[in-house]
Amino acid sequence: MAKGYVHLYTGNGKGKTTAAFGLAIRAAMSGKKVYIGQFVKDMQYCEIKIQEIVKNIVVEQLGNGCFIYESPKQKDIDAALKGLEKCRKILISGEYDVVILDEITIGLYFKLFAVEDVVEMIRNRECTVEVVMTGRYAPEELYEISDLVTEMREVKHYYETEGVLSREGIDR
Ligand code: ATP
Ligand code: MG
Repeated sequence: MAKGYVHLYTGNGKGKTTAAFGLAIRAAMSGKKVYIGQFVKDMQYCEIKIQEIVKNIVVEQLGNGCFIYESPKQKDIDAALKGLEKCRKILISGEYDVVILDEITIGLYFKLFAVEDVVEMIRNRECTVEVVMTGRYAPEELYEISDLVTEMREVKHYYETEGVLSREGIDR
């Protein structure tokens, strides 16, 4: 079995989550099994419906279902820790070939869990598992543990130039 690598898609430009889902589709089409855990997300993004169509992809929302505006509440922390524990087990088991930790950096940004725990969980994974982490504000430790790092750089965004808000099927 081939070694799995660790990807990090970060930066402020659009395209991190959609790149991860693009990779998930490619992997699933090749027969690989894909698990996608979405941390922190406050609403049902259209992409979670992918699992209704593609049988090799499982998507789970691991947040509390509410957006964290200021300081996180205990229930946000509890949900995130439970989600992290679930991902740890999935990574060790090798049950999935590709594991996507969507917005895991946002969990770190809000201090819902510690970076050491994320690093340890990735190091202890079954070595064949490919891991993709996404989200803004990735800490240095995640750059170090990753084999592939892509920073999406915002050059222009219709939200900034035209005030266009999040559109269903395009931005969420
Ligand atoms: P996407 O899910 O579209 O690939 P993303 O994962 O790169 O975006 P996030 O930081 O997760 O970006 O963004 C959360 C929401 O904000 C998404 O609806 C996304 O489309 C939108 N968004 C992403 N980048 C920007 C930006 N530079 N300015 C405004 N909105 C953005
Ligand atoms: Mg995203």
